[in-house]
Amino acid sequence: MRRDTIRWAERAALLTAGSIEGRAFIDGRYTAALDGATFQSRSPVDGRVLADVAACGGADVDRAVAAARRAFEDGRWSRRDPAERKRVLLAFADRIEAAGEELALLETLDMGKPVAHSLAVDVRATVACFRWYAEAIDKIYDEIAPSPAGTLALVTREPLGVVAAVVPWNFPMIMAAWKLAPALAAGNSVVLKPAEQSSLTAIRLAALAAEAGLPDGVFNVLPGFGPAVGQPLGLHMDVDGVVFTGSTEVGKLFLQYSGQSNMKRVGLECGGKSPHIILDDCGDLDAAAEAAADAIFFNQGEMCTAGSRLVLHRAVKDRVLDRVLAHAATRQPGDPLDPATTLGALVDETHTRNVLSYIAIGQEEGARLVAGGRRVREETGGCYVQPTVFDGVTNRMRIAQEEIFGPVLSIITVDSAEEAVAVANDSPYGLAAAVWSDNVNTVHKMARALRSGMVYVNCYDADGITVPFGGFKQSGIGRDKSLHAFDKYTELKTTWMKLR
Ligand code: NAP
Ligand code: MG
Repeated sequence: MRRDTIRWAERAALLTAGSIEGRAFIDGRYTAALDGATFQSRSPVDGRVLADVAACGGADVDRAVAAARRAFEDGRWSRRDPAERKRVLLAFADRIEAAGEELALLETLDMGKPVAHSLAVDVRATVACFRWYAEAIDKIYDEIAPSPAGTLALVTREPLGVVAAVVPWNFPMIMAAWKLAPALAAGNSVVLKPAEQSSLTAIRLAALAAEAGLPDGVFNVLPGFGPAVGQPLGLHMDVDGVVFTGSTEVGKLFLQYSGQSNMKRVGLECGGKSPHIILDDCGDLDAAAEAAADAIFFNQGEMCTAGSRLVLHRAVKDRVLDRVLAHAATRQPGDPLDPATTLGALVDETHTRNVLSYIAIGQEEGARLVAGGRRVREETGGCYVQPTVFDGVTNRMRIAQEEIFGPVLSIITVDSAEEAVAVANDSPYGLAAAVWSDNVNTVHKMARALRSGMVYVNCYDADGITVPFGGFKQSGIGRDKSLHAFDKYTELKTTWMKLR
């Protein structure tokens, strides 16, 4: 069937008539929480109830970690030939691809993004991620170090053991894949905790992994709330590493959990307030303005790398702002199940109220609301906010310092490249930054000066699994993607041998 002819609304009606799996997945099978607790997963598309999802707790954490530990210790996965692990992970990727339309629909119903994006971005990137790490694992060599005659020094990588992955709701499958693929490829066992707002695709992935031949206990999924599942995983004495994507606030908790327990390895991908700088010598203001709009309105602004601070040189400010406003006007929220929609629903009621409260804060702080600002489509029962633009923002305002995680753009005007860098770096975050300029000297100097993990020059959100992703400062510790991700999932071992 051609994709643009898919009747998503009809499929959604069929899918939500009681057929969505909401149980945890432990030791190779679906299971209710031990105490039977559940919570309702409600769709931000129209408020409908999607499924009763297992609300796991500490006892479920214990049995999932025990299953993961058993699997790790007996070597059913951890000691399999790399070529075998590759074969299973490639089969997993194939299953995800084959179930792509179902997964895309689940993702959209669960967290509100346009279904066209779920299919073209989320499913595709998830499949690509598993394939890339599957292919990598039988091509990485260990090291033999220079050492005195008569000795041999081996530097080898070994899997950590049991890895807990705690992920957010903005790209539920992709964020899970960025953790799972390198962790599993390296031979670890994994316990995944999806965000409470977006558990459904993670739960479905578990069955696809089992069908692909991943042994029991190697991949477990525990839906539930942060304090009930995330915290006990973070504090567990038998979890060797925890990898987290989410807010800076909760990321810091995982550092504490580690210090309070077994010094487990901690990898963090946290928040951002990324500056998007357009200078007076930018030669293509149309492209820059379109990128600026994409950078804040794509995925409803629920992007860790959202270009939420648009830093404009005064000489081009009016021209860029006009164009950005024109883009905002064409990206009004629509039905996420309509393939033509480009801006979908925010993830839930709580988050919607939070985004609206920041819009009120911006007005109180004296910023000028020049587009949007209102909740719309309330008659649908869903969570929709207009693309919103504030002009006249100063970098000390809360709307310039705090992550809003919605379609809300702050325009900051500057008079020089130096001032732009100073504004850009005046942030607790350092995830992404961009600069538009046709001057090769300027772009090199600025790329060096910007304190962030990713710098985009004359583009925004360029992406690929081959490059590391992560932040400076309070945007995180460690990197996802690329071969560097294996640093989070392996220990280095030095083996000295004396030769007779
Ligand atoms: P969040 O509130 O920090 O939640 C992330 C995960 O942590 C969820 O699974 C959550 O569970 C869990 N959690 C919450 N409280 C916890 C606690 N006390 N102990 C242990 N776990 C706990 O973040 P979010 O609102 O889902 O996601 C948005 C954030 O993610 C933004 O800050 C965004 O910038 C960041 N993000 C960063 C990246 C990156 O790569 N740098 C990528 C995407 C998103 P429940 O919510 O289910 O309770
Ligand atoms: Mg949901």
